Amino acid sequence: MANISNVETIAKKLIEKKSVTPNDDGCQEYIKDELSDYGFKHENINLEDVKNIWLRKGFDSPLLVFAGHTDVVPPGNIDEWETKPFEPKVKNNILYGRGASDMKSSISAMISAAQKFVENNPNHKGSIGFLLTSDEEGPAKYGTQKVIEKFKKDNIEIDYCIVGEPTSSEKFGDTIKNGRRGSLTGHLKIIGIQGHIAYPELAKNPIHIAGSLINELNDYKWDDGNKYFPKTSFQISSVKSDEVASNMIPRSIDIVFNLRFSSELTQDDIKNNFKNIISNFDCEYEVDWNCSAEPFITSEGYLTKVLQEAIKETVNIDSNLSTTGGTSDARFISQHAKETVEFGPLNKTAHKINENIDLHNLIDLEKIYYAVLSKILL
Ligand SMILES: [Zn+2]
Repeated sequence: MANISNVETIAKKLIEKKSVTPNDDGCQEYIKDELSDYGFKHENINLEDVKNIWLRKGFDSPLLVFAGHTDVVPPGNIDEWETKPFEPKVKNNILYGRGASDMKSSISAMISAAQKFVENNPNHKGSIGFLLTSDEEGPAKYGTQKVIEKFKKDNIEIDYCIVGEPTSSEKFGDTIKNGRRGSLTGHLKIIGIQGHIAYPELAKNPIHIAGSLINELNDYKWDDGNKYFPKTSFQISSVKSDEVASNMIPRSIDIVFNLRFSSELTQDDIKNNFKNIISNFDCEYEVDWNCSAEPFITSEGYLTKVLQEAIKETVNIDSNLSTTGGTSDARFISQHAKETVEFGPLNKTAHKINENIDLHNLIDLEKIYYAVLSKILL
């Protein structure tokens, strides 16, 4: 039987824990045990039903932090899985199980890399940290966001942070995320005047107003994006008017829309532009906004350079910097850390049935994290 690598053993131990958000199911306790022999001190920061853990070795700067989440999304219909989601299984050198891509594999690679690095270089400079939460896939209210608030109070300065989200898209190593777009949702109600459809002059049809308004919002150029961000996108997700008889003009219409926005705009810019556009329409309206993420960007700096070098040396790929995709906890960390990037395995099977990772990629991921530690802390 082939030797099982340290990183594979750790990944399996994590996958077998049923840590569906916000349940941690012992993941963080296990990680603490793995790291405490290597000089890491831990602090549990548990809030409501969310478990967070902060582990640190060393007191000096620079502080390099590995960040991520121990929770996973639910398995979905278990009968559709070829293996059992919480029973890690290797077939043809591919490891299957919930979290194999997002992101128990990256956490295992980070742990194993840190263990080996400390063993080989007990007197390295700076410090190594691990910031882990059991609520990234859920509301993310009591997770990383709260820990970062605490760091600000405690004056814990993060120099470099790598979030282990699965960022690779076609080939392992091809993509580093150095930012993410913002996300702003608007719930708009346009209020007209209800009336008889045969006497439109006595009513005001909110659907007709909505038609022109939607065209205008859709044609509006919010920005041009910039070097790192595509231009801001506006999309409508739902339109619904009052249900009325076919001989009636309804009183109101509800429209839900979302903007994925670049760092060229703030949410207030968008709200102001929206207000200007709708002010040209003769209508009464109400709008509720919900901004789930502000855009962030880490410009090409030391960390992106070091990570790109480590990837090139390990898997001989020139990785791209990208800001596409949904949101992640990097949005909270980037408000505090000097440089924050995300890098991890392929995301093709993340959140899917039969989630998996090629074990070659898992081993290379550990090598890349190890190389980053060497470049920054030696
Ligand atoms: Zn994730």
